[in-house]
Amino acid sequence: MENKQFKAESKRLLNLMINSIYTNKEIFLRELISNASDAIDKLHYRSLTDKNIKLNKTDFKIIIDLDKDAKTLTIRDNGCGMTEEELDKNLGTIAQSGSLAFKEENEKKKDIDIIGQFGVGFYSSFMVSDLVTVESKSIDSEKAYKWTSKGVDGYSIEECEKEDIGTKITLHIKDDTEEEKYSEFLDTYKIQKIIKTYSDYIRYPIQMNVEHSKKKEGTENEYETIIETETINSMTPIWKKNKKEIKNEEYESFYMDKFHDYDKPLKVIHNHVEGQYNYDSLIYIPSHMPYDYYTNDYEKGLQLYSNGVLIMEKCDELLPDYFGFVKGLIDSEDLSLNISREMLQNDRSLRIISRNIENKIRTELENMLKNERDKYEQFFNTFGTQLKYGTYSDYGKDKDKLQDLLLFYSSTEKKLVTLKEYVERMKEEQKVIYYACGETIDKIDMMPQVELLKDQGLEILYLTENIDEFVLQVLMNYNEKTFQNASSDNLDLDTNEEKEKLKKANENSKDMFSAMKEAIKDEVQDIRFTHRLKNHPVCLTSEGAISVEMEKTLNQMPNNQGIKAQTILEINENHEIANKLKDLYKDNKEMLQKYTKVLYAQARLIEGLTIENPTEISNLMCEIMTK
Ligand code: ADP
Repeated sequence: MENKQFKAESKRLLNLMINSIYTNKEIFLRELISNASDAIDKLHYRSLTDKNIKLNKTDFKIIIDLDKDAKTLTIRDNGCGMTEEELDKNLGTIAQSGSLAFKEENEKKKDIDIIGQFGVGFYSSFMVSDLVTVESKSIDSEKAYKWTSKGVDGYSIEECEKEDIGTKITLHIKDDTEEEKYSEFLDTYKIQKIIKTYSDYIRYPIQMNVEHSKKKEGTENEYETIIETETINSMTPIWKKNKKEIKNEEYESFYMDKFHDYDKPLKVIHNHVEGQYNYDSLIYIPSHMPYDYYTNDYEKGLQLYSNGVLIMEKCDELLPDYFGFVKGLIDSEDLSLNISREMLQNDRSLRIISRNIENKIRTELENMLKNERDKYEQFFNTFGTQLKYGTYSDYGKDKDKLQDLLLFYSSTEKKLVTLKEYVERMKEEQKVIYYACGETIDKIDMMPQVELLKDQGLEILYLTENIDEFVLQVLMNYNEKTFQNASSDNLDLDTNEEKEKLKKANENSKDMFSAMKEAIKDEVQDIRFTHRLKNHPVCLTSEGAISVEMEKTLNQMPNNQGIKAQTILEINENHEIANKLKDLYKDNKEMLQKYTKVLYAQARLIEGLTIENPTEISNLMCEIMTK
C-alpha cells in the first residue's frame, strides 16, 4: 500500500498536535462531532435539491463507541461520507477553512496558543491517539475507503468494506503517561461530560451505550448492570433556548466553534421575535476583522435555517454591506425548506426580517455607544471604516441611519467624539463644525491652519482616514450645522474691521502677488495675505469642493483622473516674511521669485504633498541662506 506524505503545513500542524502540551485535549471530540454534524447537514441539504436521494431524516445520528480493551474510541455518522479523492484532499491537507488564518496567526502567536484558541479540526484527534483510521463511503461512490495514519509519517488509503453511507472514525487512544491520563477518554462518564459541555446544541442525536445499575425484577435489593443506548445531547440549538438559561461562555464557545474564530466575540445579540414573522436570531459582532475580510473569498451573510434545518450557509440579503463583518444565523419557520437563492431575493418575509435585523444591530450599537463607551470605541476602531463607507456609498442613502454611530477625534476632548456631542458643545456664536485633515493626529495638530482655530478655543475634528472628508461631504450638515475645513479659504473668523484691513493689504500688494505667481505659474489659483496663521509664515488652502486631502485620495484611486484641488498660497500678513517680500518686490524681483518657489514648496510639504523639484528647492534655499 502506498504511503502518502502530508502537505508541508499539515505536517507542521500535526507535529504540534502530537507533541502538544496543551491541556485542553478533550476538544478533539467537539471537532469530530462537529464534522460529523456538518456531514449530515450536507447530506440533508443535498436531499433537498436532489430528488434521487431518499432519506429517512429521523435516522440521522452520531454514534460513539468506547472499547476499553482495544483502547479505541469510535465515532460514526450517517452523513455524506467521503470519496477516495476527498479522503486524500480533506485529510491530507489542513482544512481549507482555517488554513489562512492559521498561517497568519502562526507568525504572530505561540504555537500552543493556536491549538487552544483555534478550532483545528480533524487533526486534533492526534492529540489523544497514536493511530487514526477513517472509513468512509460517500453518497457519490459505490465503494468505501479507509484512510489510516499514525501521524507525521504520512497516511495510506485503501478500499474497505462498508455497507452504509457515512463515516466511521476510530481513534486508538495513547497510553497514559506521567503527565497525561489518556485513558479517561475511554471512560463513558467522562465522554458524556465532554459531549454535554461542547456539543449539546448539535441538532442530531449523539448516542452512546451507557451502563445503568437497575434493580433486578422480583428482588428486594439485588442490582444488575444493563446497557442502554442513550442520547447524550439535548439537541436544542442554542438559539432556540431560553436566553436566561444560556451562559455567556456557551454563546462564546458556540461562536468560536461555528464561525471559526479564535477570539471571543465583542457582542452577542440573541433575539426571539414573534409577530408578523417569527424567527430566532443569534448575531455576533466579532472582536476583530475577519482575517479574510479584504479578500475576494470573503462572503458576507448570515446562516439561514428553517426550523432548525440549515438551508443556506451565507444569506447575503440579510446584511447590508456596512454590517458585512457581522456573523450569525437566523432561524425562521416562515421560510420554506427548498427555497432557492433567486426566490429568496424576492421573498417578502426575508426582506422584512433583514430590515429588522439591520435595525436590531444598529440599536445594539447605539446602546453600546451610550452605555459601554470603551467597548464601542474598541468596536469603532475595528469596524468604523465600514460604517463610514456605508455612510458615503450610494450617495449617502443610509447616512441618516449611520451618522450617529460615527466617531471622530476631537482637538479639545483629545478622544473620539460623536457629531452630536460636538454640536451640543458648540457655543452660540459658532456656526459651523470645523475639521482638519492629515495623516496623523499629531501632524494635524501642528498644521498652521489649525492653530488659530485652536487659539480661539474652537473644537476641531481631526480626520485621518481617506474616506473621512468624503463622508462629511455626503452628510452635508449635522443638525443644520455645516462642516468647514480648516484649510478652506473662507474660514471667516475675522471681525469686520480686520477683514477690511486684510482686504486693503491684499489690494495694495496686488502687483506683487502677480509677480510672485509668475514663479509658480499654474500651480496655485491665487496668492494672498491671510490672518489665519498666528505664528506660521505660509500655508496652502483650497477653494471649492475638492480639498487637498481629497485630491490625494482621488489620485490614489485606480481610475485616477488627475483631479486637482484649487489651491491658494496664503502668506501670514503679520509675519516678518510679508515685509521681506514687499522689500524684494521693490528691489529684487528675481529674488522674489526664488522666495516664492521656496515658500510654495514649504506649504506643500506642510500639507503632506510632494514637491516636484526638490533639488531646485534645495539649491534655492542654500542660495538664500548664504546671501
Ligand atoms: P474543517 O471541519 O474546519 O473543514 P477538518 O480538518 O476538521 O476541517 O476537516 C476537513 C474536511 O474533511 C472537512 O471540511 C470535511 O470536508 C471533511 N470531513 C471531516 N470529517 C468528515 C465526516 N465525518 N464526514 C464527511 N466529511 C468529513
